[in-house]
Amino acid sequence: MKRVPGFLKLAVACTAIWALASFAQNSSAPEVHGIAVANMDRSVEPGNDFYRYANGEWLKRTEIPPDRVGVDVFTKLADLSNKRTSDLIAEIAKSNPPAGSSSRKVADLYNSYMDEAAIEAKGLAPLRPHLEAIAAIRDKRELAHALGETLRADVDALNNTNFHTANLFGLWVAPGFNDSEHYHAYLLQGGLQLPDREYYLSDNEQMRNIRAQYQTHIAAMLKLAGFSETDARAAGVLELEHAIAQAHRSLADNEDIHKANNTWTQADFSAKAPGLDWGEYFRGAGISQVDSFIVWQPEAFSGESALIASTPLDTWKDWLRFHLIEAYGGVLPKAVVEERFAFFGKVLSGAQEQRPRWQRGVFVVDGFLGDVVGQVYAQRYFSPEAKAQAQAMVANLIAAFRKRIEALPWMNPATKAEAEAKLSTLYVGIGYPETWHDYSNFEVKPDDIFGNLWRGDLADYQRQIARLGKPVDRKEWSMTPQTVNAVNLPLQNALNFPAAILQPPFYDPLAPAAVNYGAIGSVIGHEISHTFDTEGSTFDAKGRLRNWWTPEDLKHFEAATAQLAAQYDTYKPFPDLSVNGKQTLAENIADVAGISAAYDGYRASLSGKSAPAQDGFSGDQQFFIAFGQNWGAKTREAALRRQVMTDEHAPDEYRAATVRNIDGWYAAFEVKKGEKLYLAPADRVRIW
Ligand SMILES: [Zn+2]
Repeated sequence: MKRVPGFLKLAVACTAIWALASFAQNSSAPEVHGIAVANMDRSVEPGNDFYRYANGEWLKRTEIPPDRVGVDVFTKLADLSNKRTSDLIAEIAKSNPPAGSSSRKVADLYNSYMDEAAIEAKGLAPLRPHLEAIAAIRDKRELAHALGETLRADVDALNNTNFHTANLFGLWVAPGFNDSEHYHAYLLQGGLQLPDREYYLSDNEQMRNIRAQYQTHIAAMLKLAGFSETDARAAGVLELEHAIAQAHRSLADNEDIHKANNTWTQADFSAKAPGLDWGEYFRGAGISQVDSFIVWQPEAFSGESALIASTPLDTWKDWLRFHLIEAYGGVLPKAVVEERFAFFGKVLSGAQEQRPRWQRGVFVVDGFLGDVVGQVYAQRYFSPEAKAQAQAMVANLIAAFRKRIEALPWMNPATKAEAEAKLSTLYVGIGYPETWHDYSNFEVKPDDIFGNLWRGDLADYQRQIARLGKPVDRKEWSMTPQTVNAVNLPLQNALNFPAAILQPPFYDPLAPAAVNYGAIGSVIGHEISHTFDTEGSTFDAKGRLRNWWTPEDLKHFEAATAQLAAQYDTYKPFPDLSVNGKQTLAENIADVAGISAAYDGYRASLSGKSAPAQDGFSGDQQFFIAFGQNWGAKTREAALRRQVMTDEHAPDEYRAATVRNIDGWYAAFEVKKGEKLYLAPADRVRIW
């Protein structure tokens, strides 16, 4: 449902900028099994600024590399994972795998991406047949068919939370809201290149400036593709996207599941969203046989469909052309790649340089053939011992969570029984999945990177629609083992913790238990508690959308969470910009609940014995410092402002301050009244 770190800081179009970091500044540091004492600033009082106490020296010595918009613990591990994946790809390529095998596909995909000379030599030739097809569109009926052909499985409303597609609409195949035993088709709004409707509609100066530069970028891309009158065409495309943005639902409303549960039959589309020839659209998309869909944002479907009728055909054709060039711009000649980076990398995110091409190549392989590499990655970098130890820790955390629920003084026994049932049936995947994705329908050719990406998107789409109506595999993963992240899948009542996050500094079998519980334990607790946050608590033990709360319990929950929202509203990363307590509420609830359960789990793991001190810190101190060190981060101002406005996670500094709600933290650091983070016991938020 929600990802742990700040990976959502990026838009789809510039994914590679943030996700794969190089972290040279720490590469020569000695190996540490425990908290990183050298990263702390012990001149800071923990009760005044716990974030700087835990990370102050690291913040002082760390510079953001020019090709990054920020660095943190997650990007450091992503670098390591990226390097390992790159080595595995090289190894696979060297082994000269047999034609048609998955390994051959990995080698051919990566090599075709890296062959810049071949890409330059082809120029825009790969685009031509597609541009000719757009030019041949004669009327709105043919337009509907062509738009249908662009539908892809490129959105994900609840697992990896990606509400953005630049295609007119996006498909998500997942367990049904009203039938969690079978896969259903969800349709989501789309059509915008910029990250969110606010980028088109907001009147603030920064956004107006971005729009002006975006229009210049549209014109530049069309010009590079050989079109004339590009200024006028760009103005038309931007005007159309502005109208689409007006029809779009906001991010906060997208997260409201009750507004998303709308089942439409094929016939409903023409009645409720006239304008687009829906029969042709579904034929173009190859899904005429699908009887019904869950339409996430009905008003956007009505609004966007009406724009098909009211906007001139030629404007739609320019929109299709620009969106085509943008979608495949990363594998076109250098001039196109650089123009895209100048806008999406520099203007939108503040990066100064492109990521090295090999890193972008690894990202492409991860995106299209992730499980082929992941299978080898898991074998090599995640031992059965590490898996067993992590599973034991998860079991302790679930037990701690169960005890906390049993002890809640305000919750009715009936609601407790439902919560207990959710915990009992929770599937927790550790390290890697039990079955691997099958890529046999994806044809990869050497020297054809454009065709490879085109066929890869299509193969994924066809795999997804082939699942419709089939029984749900609750143990299916939505992340690869080499991903540095963790995820809660509410419709499957499942969690995934990939191998790549189960390593130092989050998880180190050689580190004291206090450190592992403070670092990865609080991440695991965070994901478990998403099962019971504002969204997760609307699904029952079987992943069905069903209200299982008594009204009194819900009232208490809402009062406690309002108190937490107010706490985060007081944080001000910039004098003119505060954290939005409501927008970040579900994540903040998960942080408080996660560290609470991790702390209990840690105490229970001691079985009454006292924890050994290390580096002069008690067990409890190590636990909290390890938690604080999860959130050491440096972010460029443009990217941080964007996060505060559009992300459901609070900036890392305030996530570290979660400790002020935990009684054990006060005792561990002798935090006193008068210190900045001090909260009176009655003001400490306790939710789960
Ligand atoms: Zn989360």
